[in-house]
Amino acid sequence: MLGEGILRGLGETARNFAGSFVSAERLTTIQYPEERAPVIEATRDFPFLVYDGGDWEAGLRCVACQICEKECPPKCIYIVKSTDKKPDALGKPQIYPTRFDIDISVCMSCQICVEVCPFEAIKMDTEFELSTTDRFGGLLYDRKELAKSNEYYHKIHPTEAAEVDARLAEEKVKAEAKAKAAAAAAAAKAAAGPAAAPIAAKPAPPAAVTAPATGPASSEKSPQQETKG
Ligand code: SF4
Ligand code: SF4
Repeated sequence: MLGEGILRGLGETARNFAGSFVSAERLTTIQYPEERAPVIEATRDFPFLVYDGGDWEAGLRCVACQICEKECPPKCIYIVKSTDKKPDALGKPQIYPTRFDIDISVCMSCQICVEVCPFEAIKMDTEFELSTTDRFGGLLYDRKELAKSNEYYHKIHPTEAAEVDARLAEEKVKAEAKAKAAAAAAAAKAAAGPAAAPIAAKPAPPAAVTAPATGPASSEKSPQQETKG
């Protein structure tokens, strides 16, 4: 029949149009903010600093190496290093940031800071409701505002956080084994005593002293020669 395809197409369009109002799985619009769409694990908004344990300041993983500050494309990270050291997650004394600011009004959520951090100290948050009327102070986050626990990291990115924990645990075991081996070697050396110490090399005799020349060197002119010259 002439126009049968057109009629079938229009019918399909009408069916989809009506279905998008009544079929729950096809409703793509939600009544925000009363309703919330689920946040998927791969969501990334702005960075935060991870800390271990119950004290955000003592537990910050960041060692103020400043790699993220250098690599951040819009330069929205500002770090000041400490002049003293505190133990990091592996127990190694490290410097720490006395100041760590991120201007999230400039941050473009590229995640480069996360990629370059060698200490698993900075991760991407999923929090996006950050609007404020204070354009400057309200969007410049300091280290206290940026600090979030490892438990929070597990809550928002469970798969990634579990992988990071496994990697850190492995590094910790290796570091402990290395420290133990170094301590055992030092103890063995101390037990062996000075007898094991290498015999000091005999000092070399002083170099032969060349007899002084009786007259001026051939290249030098005597005062008489200079006068004649
Ligand atoms: S996410 Fe990108 S722009 Fe934002 S602080 Fe990190 S490196 Fe800078
Ligand atoms: S967050 Fe990571 S890369 Fe940035 S200063 Fe701290 S340890 Fe270094």
